[in-house]
Amino acid sequence: MSAETRYDGQRAARPPRWFSEAADDELTIFERSRPGRRAFVAPQCDVPDRPLDELLPSRLRRSSPPRLPEVSEPELVRHYNRLSKRNFDVDTGFYPLGSCTMKHNPRLHERVAALDGHARLHPLQDPLRAQGALELMWRLQQALAEIAGLPYVSLQPSAGSHGELAGVLLTRAYYEERGEGRHKVLTPDTAHGTNPATVTMAGYDVVKVGTDSHGNVDLDDLRAKAGEDVACLMLTNPSTLGLFEPAIEEVARVVHGVGATLYYDGANLNAIMGISRPGDMGFDIVHFNLHKSFTQPHGGGGPGAGPIAVSERLEPYLPRPVVVRRAPAGNGSEAVYDLDYDRPKSIGRLRGFHGNYGVFVRSYAYIRSLGEAGLREVSETAVLNANYLLARLRRAGVAEYLPAAYERICMHEFVLDGSPMKRELQIRTLDLAKRLLDHGVHPPTVYFPLIVEEALLVEPTETETKETLDRFADAVADVLREARADPEVARAAPYTTPVRRLDEAGAARRPVVRQPL
Ligand SMILES: *Cc1c(COP(=O)(O)O)cnc(C)c1O
Repeated sequence: MSAETRYDGQRAARPPRWFSEAADDELTIFERSRPGRRAFVAPQCDVPDRPLDELLPSRLRRSSPPRLPEVSEPELVRHYNRLSKRNFDVDTGFYPLGSCTMKHNPRLHERVAALDGHARLHPLQDPLRAQGALELMWRLQQALAEIAGLPYVSLQPSAGSHGELAGVLLTRAYYEERGEGRHKVLTPDTAHGTNPATVTMAGYDVVKVGTDSHGNVDLDDLRAKAGEDVACLMLTNPSTLGLFEPAIEEVARVVHGVGATLYYDGANLNAIMGISRPGDMGFDIVHFNLHKSFTQPHGGGGPGAGPIAVSERLEPYLPRPVVVRRAPAGNGSEAVYDLDYDRPKSIGRLRGFHGNYGVFVRSYAYIRSLGEAGLREVSETAVLNANYLLARLRRAGVAEYLPAAYERICMHEFVLDGSPMKRELQIRTLDLAKRLLDHGVHPPTVYFPLIVEEALLVEPTETETKETLDRFADAVADVLREARADPEVARAAPYTTPVRRLDEAGAARRPVVRQPL
């Protein structure tokens, strides 16, 4: 089928809709509201009535009812069901969004996280009555320490970027105690945007380090910029180009040589789990993205978790409280798990309570169900899948327009350079991405890393089949073939999604975040 027959005249091509959907697909739940409709009727009260004033003073009560939509239960169910179908998610199709590790989230973890003992636990529960939960957190800390190759862990940060902030604040506390006035943090020019943002939030100046022609850290540039005024170098390995940094030990020597710390952005951990450890490479601080490498579902904005692991010299400053295990007192008594607040040098709390506990349960279930050999296999398969897909794209004939940005064995993801495509076919990476939506694929990451023109960052993950990878390669080849005949088709894509191409610049400049009721 050509694109024209498949997608042109989108209206005519759309199958007829069921009446209920066709009639009110675009209505908001507020527009559906009719006074008095209810999805739920509360049962008769079976305790004695008490005057409201006794329970809540009138000054604390609202004077008019809240403006909530009034709908029946079927309308409510359809509303959410309809919204859920307008989204694209990893349970719907392939989601090779580079740097995000959109892998399958095993359903077993949901069963475990939903157990009453986990789901109904209150964060203010007396630690003595939450021993199981604290033990799980402590064991997760131990497992993450082992994976990172760094002995001390805090589970508190809520996201990778939050872990970054924690790590740089630890660095800051460390130098402040030593009376060292360092004010710069180095980040490579390939860094994720959260790295320089973290540096600025933590009160440091960002200094960019260049990338050499092979995609590695430019060592001469690093040596030139690493001085006694540098507090830290933030790095991910493999980098956001999907390339392993072969000179990592030399990088660590240069950074430690000027007394600075080396921070590992753990977003790319999916490439190295059980194979190499950031601590062994010389890193002092690591953050984990439990919602990337460790199967917490993500993509809807949270919740995630970004625990950190650190070396000995940074341990005293870890966020408070820390989950600890107190050894048995003897006489057959058991170990007791507790929250340790007695940490005078701590940078303090980073959030309310102790972290996103449900995420810890899922990630712990993942680590325990795979074991050491299983985690290693995850990373080996992730790397194999990425290299297979890169080779398969070449075989599908796309390299002429979309060559690899660096001709090397990649790790768990790779970057394609879309500039020949733009020049020869007159379509941009954005057009290719939008057209892929019509093939039922979530597009790869686009225009990141910033140093590759028209970049496309592809991360297949270990949980996809060979057939899915083949289909993706063929879909990309299809879009390029189609563009050779008529670039306009891709430029006006997508055609089959709930909304067509959005005005992204307009949305950024004039955001409408709230509809007037
Ligand atoms: C996702 C990501 C981050 C930030 O992590 P969040 O959990 O989204 O805050 C940092 N660095 C890299 C390379 C990433 O891919």
